[in-house]
Amino acid sequence: MSQPKILLLGPPGAGKGTQSSNLVSEFGVEHVTTGDALRSNKEMDISDLGLEYDTPGEYMDRGELVPDEVVNAIVEKALTSADGFVLDGYPRNLDQAEELESMTELDVIVSLSVSEAELVDRLTGRRVCSDCGENYHVEFDQPEKAGVCDECGGELIQREDDQEKAVRNRLEVFAENTEPVIDYYSDRDAFVEIDGEQSLDDVWNDLQAAVESAI
Ligand code: ADP
Ligand code: AMP
Repeated sequence: MSQPKILLLGPPGAGKGTQSSNLVSEFGVEHVTTGDALRSNKEMDISDLGLEYDTPGEYMDRGELVPDEVVNAIVEKALTSADGFVLDGYPRNLDQAEELESMTELDVIVSLSVSEAELVDRLTGRRVCSDCGENYHVEFDQPEKAGVCDECGGELIQREDDQEKAVRNRLEVFAENTEPVIDYYSDRDAFVEIDGEQSLDDVWNDLQAAVESAI
């Protein structure tokens, strides 16, 4: 079989980015993440679309969703060039979920569930590499040398939207827009729910087993 097509769902801070790195190493899939793609294009001029703001960054720093027309185009382009993939951060509303149906079929759909209190701790303590995007946590997943990425030596920074105010807004946006997406997939044979509140290793063991049984 060709490489697996994996969808990773869950609230901000559930561990999608962290576990995606493991999936890339283990299964050789491509990491397709709308969050990283948009962060690389925060200043892109989208004023010709006549939307509320003129750049993706203005939505992102407030913790709001970037409009579908911008995000759908990014995912369509990335999936066309990928064989297997782990899709992380998309779809975030039902319209995007319907759009995804027309782009590809999925082998396994994993939902990582984590309580809200834990999500706030994870997001406000998250640090990311400014060069390669690797995730760390000031308490739960520390780098060998404080402030420095283990993978590439880049500087670790806090994302603008990991400040508490934007975090609370992102969790509300998730509850309103993205929880219905999890319900939408939940009765599929390919759907698996994993307790994302376990240790990093235990989440990975469950995730690896779910992908292996699907391929
Ligand atoms: P997402 O991509 O879903 O927003 P991340 O993978 O960036 O989430 O994880 C959010 C934060 O939580 C990061 O700082 C990461 O190091 C930490 N984290 C991820 N998984 C766990 C876990 N199982 N236990 C404790 N901390 C975790
Ligand atoms: P993430 O890195 O997945 O936490 O995403 C960071 C931010 O990027 C989100 O808060 C949104 O502003 C934007 N974003 C990422 N993915 C999407 C998406 N599928 N739809 C709309 N906005 C998105």
